[in-house]
Amino acid sequence: MTELHKNYIGGEWVGGDARPNINPSNTNEVVGTFAQGTAEDARAAIDAAQAAFKTWSQSGIQQRHDILKATGDEILARKEEIGRLLSREEGKTLPEGIGETIRAAQIFHFFAGETLRLAGEVLPSVRPGIDVQITREPIGVVGLITPWNFPIAIPAWKIAPALAYGNTVVIKPADLVPGCTWTIVDILVRNGLPKGVLNLVMGRGSVVGQAILESPKVNALSFTGSVGTGKKVAEASIAVMRKFQLEMGGKNPTVVLDDADLKTAVETTVNSAFFSTGQRCTASSRLIVTEKIHDAYVEAMVKRMKDLVVDDAIKQGTNIGPVVDQSQLDQDENYIKIAKEEGGELAFGGRRIERDNPGFFLEPALFTGTTPEMRINKEEVFGPVASVIKVKDYEEALAVANDTAFGLSAGIVTTSLKHASHFRRNAEAGMVMVNLPTAGVDYHVPFGGRKGSSYGPREQGKYAAEFFTTVKTAYTQP
Ligand code: NAD
Repeated sequence: MTELHKNYIGGEWVGGDARPNINPSNTNEVVGTFAQGTAEDARAAIDAAQAAFKTWSQSGIQQRHDILKATGDEILARKEEIGRLLSREEGKTLPEGIGETIRAAQIFHFFAGETLRLAGEVLPSVRPGIDVQITREPIGVVGLITPWNFPIAIPAWKIAPALAYGNTVVIKPADLVPGCTWTIVDILVRNGLPKGVLNLVMGRGSVVGQAILESPKVNALSFTGSVGTGKKVAEASIAVMRKFQLEMGGKNPTVVLDDADLKTAVETTVNSAFFSTGQRCTASSRLIVTEKIHDAYVEAMVKRMKDLVVDDAIKQGTNIGPVVDQSQLDQDENYIKIAKEEGGELAFGGRRIERDNPGFFLEPALFTGTTPEMRINKEEVFGPVASVIKVKDYEEALAVANDTAFGLSAGIVTTSLKHASHFRRNAEAGMVMVNLPTAGVDYHVPFGGRKGSSYGPREQGKYAAEFFTTVKTAYTQP
């Protein structure tokens, strides 16, 4: 048994039942052992965060800047080690794991800078002789609940702004990937974060997560995960009248038009659909292709997919790591079965594969001959499974692209400025990509979606202040 990684509550490392963190590339390998928190732990963490709020919210911005900057520096200096941990606990390839770790460092650096840039406004009043001052203040105790698919980037893009703007935090990472969040907390603590300001409670969603949802002492809640859990967060938050923010699923389209550069179309959609094992909320799973390029595109996709190496995430040369766990693998295989039953033709892949280690390896799957009504085109699979929908022209492509309950990211591959511009304006999504994969975003600009994908203000960049602060309007008669 490896050393127990404990929860961090009120400035103390606190033990609990041990849960092994299993490597999806090799289920014989335990990445580490992590404490399972209880509802009582969650409540103690919330009390600690509440007690620390007064001092932290009034702490100087230099102190906050220095801690966030030092944290970014340490994450960057340890990018190989942390990236390896990430790939071992989640299963994305080592270059993807290191890339995500670098991203986390960039996010801490960005919000270190934001502590020094928080501005307000001074306006004249409509009543002569009075000044109106608009300022942003921290909200209080913020609860953060994160999913398994970006084990370091998502915790970073919630923790860093929450702390930068003077809030105190209780974070519950996904059960499958506690290692990266534990590492961030350890780094922040060693770099001088005062007791109680950040509290880590690892454990089950239905226990620890639920206790956070139910507490009226949590003043704001930022959640990323599935639609089902998002609805629970919304209901519980309304019940106590707290601010909340949801980032949820996607069924992101990529439109490929007749005039597209074929190589760009293939590389863009292979990346969007299959990299990170298709386990990205911004992954593209609906490939909407106009009829004149359709056959050449499918042929080129199948040829390219034959070259993709599915293997141990850590192994050099692996393009696609394993699926995250058995239950996600079951879900992926179930949707492959459903797609076949609905009449989709499997053009490539979709089989379980054996490698040297016991792991959850699945060939990426491409379906053709699918229609917008099929479940495979309506529901989020969250695996390396994509389907091609053949359409007549751009107008039909746009209509199909928008025919979804979700609205996170949408892409188009075309050499037509007219169609690219029209799509940019009319795609019903929070993010639009022209000749680029639907996944892969910057950290200094807003991230989020529309319709069933998101609720509340955007995350990341300076837009994060919308959620992590509250606005005060003050009137002064000198
Ligand atoms: P999930 O909803 O199962 O879990 C998310 C988090 O909620 C986990 O920490 C989990 O333990 C917790 N949780 C579960 N039940 C809870 C409860 N009753 N109360 C409080 N917390 C609870 O999602 P997941 O399987 O970890 O993540 C995959 C989903 O996340 C996909 O749908 C994906 O699209 C989505 N996602 C969205 C974005 C985005 O920004 N839009 C980014 C990444 C992932």
